[in-house]
Amino acid sequence: MAKTVWRHIAIVAALVALLTLAGGCPIKALFGVPCPGCGLTRAWWEAMHFRFGEAFSYHPLWLPAPFLLLYAIHLQVLPARFQSRLAKAVLILSAIAYSSLYLYRIFIVHDPLLQPDFSNALFPILFDKIRAFVYT
Ligand SMILES: [Zn+2]
Repeated sequence: MAKTVWRHIAIVAALVALLTLAGGCPIKALFGVPCPGCGLTRAWWEAMHFRFGEAFSYHPLWLPAPFLLLYAIHLQVLPARFQSRLAKAVLILSAIAYSSLYLYRIFIVHDPLLQPDFSNALFPILFDKIRAFVYT
């Protein structure tokens, strides 16, 4: 159990370091495409300052996100009653809800938070440099 706790602390520290170094979403920094969780940090920041309207505008599903993430990460080490089919169904339905919301925000409402930006992303820049090297 103590080994698991230290492993999770190391994972959280690595994620925080990655977010700090990337200056925001690491997925967007690498690929230029926002992830389904983009806006959650800002939404929680607004909620902690009691600006709930802004929180919902950054990410409508901000409230359950950290609890679902913690639950998903610790699913294997939780007591059996937390590993029931119902509990796992909640995770699957949550994944469907977050994915659906992600697609809705991109393709239906064209949320400015979720627009791709390839001009500052690592892999698109590398791809352009390799393509320029190969074809010149
Ligand atoms: Zn993101």
